[in-house]
Amino acid sequence: MRRFFVDKADKSETKLSGAEYKHLAEVLRARVGDKIILCPNDGRDYVYAIKALDKTSATLEYLYDYPNETECALDLTVYPALLKGDKTELVVQKLTELGVKNIRPFISEFTVQKSEKSDRLQRAAHEAAKQCGRAIIPSIDKPQTFDKILPQLGDFDNVVFAYEGTYADGKRIDEVIRGDEKSVALIVGPEGGFSEKEVLALTDSGYMPVTLGKRILRAETASIAGSAVIMFLTGEWK
Ligand code: SAH
Repeated sequence: MRRFFVDKADKSETKLSGAEYKHLAEVLRARVGDKIILCPNDGRDYVYAIKALDKTSATLEYLYDYPNETECALDLTVYPALLKGDKTELVVQKLTELGVKNIRPFISEFTVQKSEKSDRLQRAAHEAAKQCGRAIIPSIDKPQTFDKILPQLGDFDNVVFAYEGTYADGKRIDEVIRGDEKSVALIVGPEGGFSEKEVLALTDSGYMPVTLGKRILRAETASIAGSAVIMFLTGEWK
């Protein structure tokens, strides 16, 4: 059954209109009697049957609702440095599929791209959440500067500072992740990596560099692979 994100879902007859309705009627060519799922971002799926279709909206009859099983217990927030071209969009799509809850892009000393059209990222997250069956669309923050996000890292049970630096005695990720965390932050640098100053600011704040293996991964690979490993280590992949 196709899913549609809405502001609210009543347990009664309701209407679907706007862009979501257009998608349903024109792209999916839905018919009366078809069943769809509405997701009001409350972690539950609400099943409706299409009762009527007119030019601007679909009338839906409530059938039942249940907890959406795909959301992670772990609240993983990823801080990916802004990347060139559409690579941040790729990161948003893949992190959404992986169950990441918040994506907070940042601008650092070596980021080449200093701004991002956030509606593009929102759309990528929305489409990916639909495709992979999630009930929640990850929150996508507007890009912030590195010095703004640094203090936020203290809000998490654990922080994975992925650092490619050769001289750093990068810890293994399974030595840092305990597995019982409720919330984790993963921070990944841009194509040019972290600057000395940023590495010092992170290590001085007590965040030990973590290695993602002996090869230098592209930033987008590091965010995606790092998120996947954290999901596995905290028991989300069972
Ligand atoms: N300027 C670097 C590459 C940066 S890769 C160089 O060419 O040497 C972009 C980001 O991905 C890094 O800042 C880091 O956060 C992450 N990353 C890439 N490979 C990594 C690895 N082997 N271990 C830990 N982090 C890595």
